[in-house]
Amino acid sequence: MRAAVCRAFDASLEIADIDLRPPGPGEIEVAIAACAVCHSDLHAMDGAWGGYLPAVYGHEAAGHVTAIGEGSTDIAKGDPVLVTPIRACGACPSCAGGHPATCETPYDRVGDSPLRDRDGTPVEQGISAAAFAERVVVDRSQVQRIPADIGMDAACLLSCGVITGFGAVTNTASVKPGSDVVVAGAGGVGLNSIQGAAIAGAARVIAVDPVPEKLDAAREFGATDVVLATDDDVEHQIGKLTGGRGADTVLVTVGAADAYRQAPRFLAPRGQLIAVGMPPADALAEWSPGDFSYLGQGIQGSCLGDTVLSRDIPFLVELYRQGRLKLDELVTGRYPFARINDAIGDTRAGRSRRNVILFDGYGR
Ligand SMILES: [Zn+2]
Ligand SMILES: [Zn+2]
Repeated sequence: MRAAVCRAFDASLEIADIDLRPPGPGEIEVAIAACAVCHSDLHAMDGAWGGYLPAVYGHEAAGHVTAIGEGSTDIAKGDPVLVTPIRACGACPSCAGGHPATCETPYDRVGDSPLRDRDGTPVEQGISAAAFAERVVVDRSQVQRIPADIGMDAACLLSCGVITGFGAVTNTASVKPGSDVVVAGAGGVGLNSIQGAAIAGAARVIAVDPVPEKLDAAREFGATDVVLATDDDVEHQIGKLTGGRGADTVLVTVGAADAYRQAPRFLAPRGQLIAVGMPPADALAEWSPGDFSYLGQGIQGSCLGDTVLSRDIPFLVELYRQGRLKLDELVTGRYPFARINDAIGDTRAGRSRRNVILFDGYGR
């Protein structure tokens, strides 16, 4: 099987033949049709979170089921599915409490990886999926069936970028109709927080980004107002837009420490800061804790939108079919697998919303 293997941090991926073992009990094999490039893949490739090499990344994928391990009777060969990084045991306190995205059961992405290099060396199943590859073997919990009539290039975005941005608004923040929302960062995740906030009935959806073109996109996705992050009076502008209060919810959707430092200043009394973007492990942000206590504010992290696949994916698919959720508009580039490094380079340059890698199985 061909996979795009990371053999050194800060280097191009190498398309190589590696071995994928058949699915064991509770596992599913999927032929990948499309996999989008997410910023988390870039952080992993750069070694920003440390980690083992060689590794295969890619975790925002869709394809067709090709083999089923023992014990899964609710899915059939040929089914179109999402492959997501949400690997859930179903029994730990998080899973039992309805929060599988923060499953607490450890999983060894190297020792338990289904991937081996040709010399037998384990290859890490990066971000729990390793979907920059023709096929994956993943846990049943990571796979969610989707209708056959949705394009795989659009559908794959539901596996991470869409649920991360949208779910942070609807699941983590529980944004209420009539409230004011600031979304810091109008990239692939931020645009989904913006459309989530608009669908949730927020009175004002204010996008903040340093790139003017991204603010144009933010308006297309439902932002009522936009503020250039490089202006020196960003806080003042947000104050004016919110009647002097600040926003009830501020979502930081980019992995930039600067955005985290700035964000609490946009909060209303009792406002919630939702941490979505993941900066490198050594990045720090400083705040005055006294401001949080005095104003009754809070900080809450949101991992993969606190998504429950079987509950949230059918809902998002329905919104897409009604024309209320934009997916196709999120795709800015489509690349054959052989050109994966070009897709990654373009994502690094910050020009794209989402670049999607298309595999031979695409269009099946
Ligand atoms: Zn991702
Ligand atoms: Zn669990």
